[in-house]
Amino acid sequence: MKDLPGEWMDHQLTVALRIRPLNEAEIEEGATIVAHKIDNQMVVLMDPCEDSDNVLRAHRSREKTYMFDLAFDYTATQEDVYVATTKNLIDGVIAGYNATVFAYGPTGAGKTHTMLGLDSEPGIYIRTLNDLFRAIEDSTEDLDCSVYMSYIEIYNEMIRDLLNPSSGYLELREDGKGEIRIAGITEFSTCNAKEIMALLTKGNKQRTQESTAANKTSSRSHAILQVTVKQKSRVKDINEEVRVGKLFMVDLAGTERASQTQNRGKRMKEGAHINRSLLALANCINALSEKGGKGAQFVNYRDSKLTRLLKDALGGNSRTVMITHISPASSNFEESRNTLVYADKAKNIRTKVKRNLMNVSYHLAQYTRIIADLRSEIERL
Ligand code: ADP
Ligand code: MG
Repeated sequence: MKDLPGEWMDHQLTVALRIRPLNEAEIEEGATIVAHKIDNQMVVLMDPCEDSDNVLRAHRSREKTYMFDLAFDYTATQEDVYVATTKNLIDGVIAGYNATVFAYGPTGAGKTHTMLGLDSEPGIYIRTLNDLFRAIEDSTEDLDCSVYMSYIEIYNEMIRDLLNPSSGYLELREDGKGEIRIAGITEFSTCNAKEIMALLTKGNKQRTQESTAANKTSSRSHAILQVTVKQKSRVKDINEEVRVGKLFMVDLAGTERASQTQNRGKRMKEGAHINRSLLALANCINALSEKGGKGAQFVNYRDSKLTRLLKDALGGNSRTVMITHISPASSNFEESRNTLVYADKAKNIRTKVKRNLMNVSYHLAQYTRIIADLRSEIERL
């Protein structure tokens, strides 16, 4: 990584695909595996068709291959996925770059498993925070570092604080620099991994979940864990913020269509809202991928809260990784195909990244230190 302040660097969105194992329900219904990983980048999706015995089987003659930056299947551990997708973003965040990791895919495909995971198999959230704290502890730089976390959901185009659900709905505000902020959000600052996992698990239970036909514990909301690393100079009198790195980790709502979940009434209305955010996201992905990275001036981020919040992640100042999830089962073939087509488009998205250095005091602090060092050297002579 080049480390020059203020210099814009091109970055291509990294797209990973994770195919989860067949689940019990799929095995019970006699589903076959139609999505296979061929190597670390290539996957194949076979179009299932009914044979004379009315059983859906994958047919090699009707298959399509897709290439991604990374491909994982049922053999991949949580650690494997974390190391390949997210671990290498951490140094950048500490150096003042923004980064975003988002989990994309239909309900039940494994997004929450990848991001939050289980106590016994923690996901990206906790692994990232653990490594982030360790890296800060090991840092030899003369800077005071603090880490803030917030955890929100977007549900029906309304923002709720998952760490403080009683605070009602929160509003997005644009600050003087054009950056989007969430007014009144709770930020917590702790380095204790156990405490964080407990907070996140508790927060996750606050997520709006109701059954749909697609999945019993379907998550109809987008959850966003934001981690901000702020650093200040330790040099006396120059106690100013010198750089800020932001990391978004996003667990999106299911991308399935309302018709496939047989949503009715309230669910249907809610579906429309979810679709508004996901539709806006899809529109942004379409527009950005067509541009081939030639700037994002015609992309409409304003259509939904999700895209307003993810504006930087998609077309601005962020290193971004999209982890796409699919089920391997023949019964989910249509959803998997739609998901792969989107992920394939997202590969074309480019962002531009730059270190977020707040002001000149960092350099001033460095010069002050150099002068002090020189002085003591002269005194020793
Ligand atoms: P989503 O968040 O996309 O709706 P979940 O992450 O909740 O899906 O996954 C649905 C179910 O499948 C959960 O019970 C989860 O534990 C399980 N699951 C998902 N991915 C995996 C995986 N890679 N290995 C084992 N179990 C998984
Ligand atoms: Mg989920």
